[in-house]
Amino acid sequence: MSASQSVNPIDPAEALRLRSDFPVLRQQVHGKPLVYLDNAATTQKPQVVIDRIANYYAHENGTVRRGVYKLSEQSTRDFDASRTKVAQFLNAASPSEIIFTRGTTESINLVAATYGRKFIQAGDHILISAMEHHANLVPWQQLCLEKDAVLQVVPITDAGEMDMDAFDRLLTDRVKLVAVGHVSNALGTVNPIREIIEKAHALDIPVLVDGAQSAPHMSVDLQALDCDFFTFSAHKLYGPTGVGILYGKMKYLEIMPPYQFGGDMIHSVSFEKTVFAKPPAKFEAGTPAIAEVIALATAVDYLSAIGLDRIGVYEHELLAYATAQMLEIPEVRLIGTASHKAGILSFTLKGAHPHDIGTILDREGIAIRAGHHCAQPVMERFGVPATARASFSFYNTREDIDALVKAVRIVVNLFN
Ligand code: PMP
Repeated sequence: MSASQSVNPIDPAEALRLRSDFPVLRQQVHGKPLVYLDNAATTQKPQVVIDRIANYYAHENGTVRRGVYKLSEQSTRDFDASRTKVAQFLNAASPSEIIFTRGTTESINLVAATYGRKFIQAGDHILISAMEHHANLVPWQQLCLEKDAVLQVVPITDAGEMDMDAFDRLLTDRVKLVAVGHVSNALGTVNPIREIIEKAHALDIPVLVDGAQSAPHMSVDLQALDCDFFTFSAHKLYGPTGVGILYGKMKYLEIMPPYQFGGDMIHSVSFEKTVFAKPPAKFEAGTPAIAEVIALATAVDYLSAIGLDRIGVYEHELLAYATAQMLEIPEVRLIGTASHKAGILSFTLKGAHPHDIGTILDREGIAIRAGHHCAQPVMERFGVPATARASFSFYNTREDIDALVKAVRIVVNLFN
């Protein structure tokens, strides 16, 4: 049975009802109703998340872990409850394996700066893919430069899939870490992450998964996946900016040195010596983004009530609908035609630069992304300077896709 048959689908009426939860979507842009199709960059926030932040600052604000008064104690409880909620959402073995950072970028930098600096030696290999976001490329590249280690890159096929034969060849016992994206933000490709993890583990190699584009769009079970690190950003999961999640298996968190030093990450301090706290506190120096972490729990509840499996199926239907229509336009070139894709549609148009596409679509009220999507090597691989990218959410509808396709036809007529 396919995933789409096994879940009760989101129908158009429900999508419209869900859309009404997002106040920002009720506006007009250049006199046209806003069609927001840049969900891979950031998602909009439902009213419940906005209310949670406003309520926190209006009635609850108090720092965490330090106070013995009611406001501080309640904030600490809610902050810790968010950690537990995220652990359950991802099916992590323990809330202590969830570290709050500022975003996916900081999470990956944290692993590179701690695990990487301690365990990667000269001559070691770090294996990434050619479709990584710069956030999962530059930290490893810089670590390799510092350590005289070697960054190995698994190439991608013309369809935008990881070349698994090349992966098998590059996965030698010199590899000390595999770091790959679950879903490509530039191509929409869903990588065979289970296979990658199983093969790496067969050689005792730890795997970091960049889940920035997967966690908001499919259910993730970390214990089933068995990856060693997993990360995503709250702002792409209908939550606030400024919060990232880093999951790490406790066996690694225990042997990793701290990332930053300061308050909250210590057990005891004297002028001669500091004893660090246990994970996760060891990796959370300083006052965290308290309101935002607490509101992330609200976003997780909101999404869980809809159901991640239903969201994935619905967004995939939108992708199929959009892909079929775009393929009817001869000037369109789709970049990323993998057999297994999430709701991301990257394309170029004959005669028009992606920035022109983005600007003209904006005049029609349609927000898409135009650029290299922080994945310049992907652009190079496909021989384009940039692409236009539409990315979907459960609050998008077929009417949004129709508006997109109509506007793309306007661009085609202007430039050809
Ligand atoms: N990885 C992927 C696949 C992404 O799509 C993004 C955001 N575009 C990031 C990492 C970085 O996320 P952030 O900017 O929230 O740190």
